Amino acid sequence: MESVVIWVKPYKPEHHQPDTEGHKGHCGWHGMTSGRGPCRNEPYASVKLQYKNYAPVQSACVQALKEISQRYGFPIPQE
Ligand SMILES: [Zn+2]
Repeated sequence: MESVVIWVKPYKPEHHQPDTEGHKGHCGWHGMTSGRGPCRNEPYASVKLQYKNYAPVQSACVQALKEISQRYGFPIPQE
């Protein structure tokens, strides 16, 4: 995995592109993870990730943030 987390901020719809889950107030991390389907939790954080060719801002519920933290190895910011 060459992906890294660029930043994590408290969730705001404005952090997200129009037509994304995050902009609509949904948890985009779980919505986009295969086999998961839409997530019913409220987004808690906005997370900017760097992939090979693009750097999307993902909305993440509390559970998603834990998963992202474990996968990419960054500390979860405190409120
Ligand atoms: Zn979620």
